[in-house]
Amino acid sequence: MTRSSPHKLEKAEKLARELQSKGIRDERVLAAIACIPREVFVDEALADMAYLDRPLPIEAGQTISQPYTVARQTELLQLLPGDKVLEIGTGSGYQAAILCEMGAEVYSIERYRELHVQAKETLSKLGYTPHLFHGDGFEGLPDHAPYDKILITAAPEEIPPKLKAQLRIGGRMVLPLGGRERQLMTVVKRLSETHYSTTEHGDYIFVPMKKGTE
Ligand code: SAH
Repeated sequence: MTRSSPHKLEKAEKLARELQSKGIRDERVLAAIACIPREVFVDEALADMAYLDRPLPIEAGQTISQPYTVARQTELLQLLPGDKVLEIGTGSGYQAAILCEMGAEVYSIERYRELHVQAKETLSKLGYTPHLFHGDGFEGLPDHAPYDKILITAAPEEIPPKLKAQLRIGGRMVLPLGGRERQLMTVVKRLSETHYSTTEHGDYIFVPMKKGTE
């Protein structure tokens, strides 16, 4: 889908190639990165830096994750077209755009109202139609559960129990797990009504997942 000037997409394509050279293998993730103008998700003053593989500040003291991290989390999700995905931490909306571009049905929750409102505007301008909610991600969205995939983009200290319960049997949750200093990227698979398995995929640094809304 082409929604931006060829010049901007050239930069997004270059970013996708850089991520490939850093080890991202999933071609569908790389294709989504290559066609989304990341600059529209950050303040105009930061537009020049939007295609660097760096996290950038957004409103409310939060960050848009580093593109490598977005790509890696998405790759670990093993997304299939049509998957129903719950994202915790809409932030700028960039990750939600990647999920939409890959054909997922996206539900995303953000605890800061101003970020929720801004992301809604940005995503609708680009023509994406995820279901966005202002709320506390620790609660999930039980009305729309179960989810094939759950992606947490802020760091909780333990796997949120209500989110585990909203994962479909056979589904996967990807989250950065741990305290404030650094977190371990973790994949949780739901094996049965009561059984889950976890695997670990390296260290990352995320903003903390916080209770309540603002
Ligand atoms: N996915 C985002 C990354 C944003 S950073 C993007 O692509 O830009 C993580 C986001 O999680 C922040 O916006 C933060 O406010 C939000 N967050 C933290 N705790 C939360 C919670 N309990 N519920 C919902 N969102 C939360």
